[in-house]
Amino acid sequence: MSETTYKGTALITGASSGIGAAYADRLARRGYDLILVARNRDRLDQLANRLSTATGRAVEVVVADLGRKEDVRRVEEILRTDASITMLVNNAGIGGAAPLLQSDADQMESMIDLNVTALTRLTYAVVPQFVQRGNGTIVNIASIVAVAPEVLNGVYGGSKAFVLALSQSLRHELADKGVRVQAVLPGAIRTEFWDIAGQPVENLPQSIVMSVDHLVDAALAGLDQGEFATVPSLPDAADWHSFEAARAALGPNLSRNVPAARYGVSV
Ligand code: NAP
Repeated sequence: MSETTYKGTALITGASSGIGAAYADRLARRGYDLILVARNRDRLDQLANRLSTATGRAVEVVVADLGRKEDVRRVEEILRTDASITMLVNNAGIGGAAPLLQSDADQMESMIDLNVTALTRLTYAVVPQFVQRGNGTIVNIASIVAVAPEVLNGVYGGSKAFVLALSQSLRHELADKGVRVQAVLPGAIRTEFWDIAGQPVENLPQSIVMSVDHLVDAALAGLDQGEFATVPSLPDAADWHSFEAARAALGPNLSRNVPAARYGVSV
């Protein structure tokens, strides 16, 4: 049984396997009760039983397909009404490795429904509750493709760039309201994600593949350290800060009343 202090409830999407299941394990051990969301009931039930036995925490299972509007609304309702929820881990997501010319537009739309639309709706459901209570944490699982969209499927990269940009904006808006926002940018992680994306993880150079346990432990350490963007693989955090500084430096010149001189437009 766990000796840790009760931290409220964490709702984790995509908790039936991979990164989400590892978050469930670590957060239960840190003192969170859990609400585990995904489609596969058997896997969710097995994980819930294992974690409640190991940690003594209350673990609830919600079977939902976050690609379906009505299921997303059901999870939104939980986020709006369960006052014990102190953390949302927006983790459910699918990827793709195929280039545009080999991708099916309907599949790309399904990816956007899950990676972008569901994540956005769940965020909108919980943020007002966190703001009202002056407390709460949102962990958004993005990806390194958010800043390197050329690496995998472009829609997947675009969806994760959205997650990063939304997180940046949320951090900005919620900074003085007691709400923590963290964006996690994993590189390649050894999970079923790769089979579903159509690129077996065994085919990648193993020097770039991290274990799910290492990823989640590093991401939670980043959260403890107060990081906004956690890139677990990146050896030197200064590189991320330089990237951010370059973006900030563009700021004052991104909107002006005349085009830049290099375009030769007479004004
Ligand atoms: P995973 O093992 O395939 O896990 C994906 C999770 O999402 C599963 O629990 C799956 O459960 C759930 N899910 C998929 N479609 C869903 C739907 N329509 N409704 C509800 N839940 C759904 O892959 P993972 O690597 O842990 O991926 C988790 C997140 O990490 C994703 O957002 C992914 O983009 C991101 N990420 C992964 C990597 C990587 O290399 N693995 C790298 C960067 C970022 P059910 O099938 O039971 O629904």
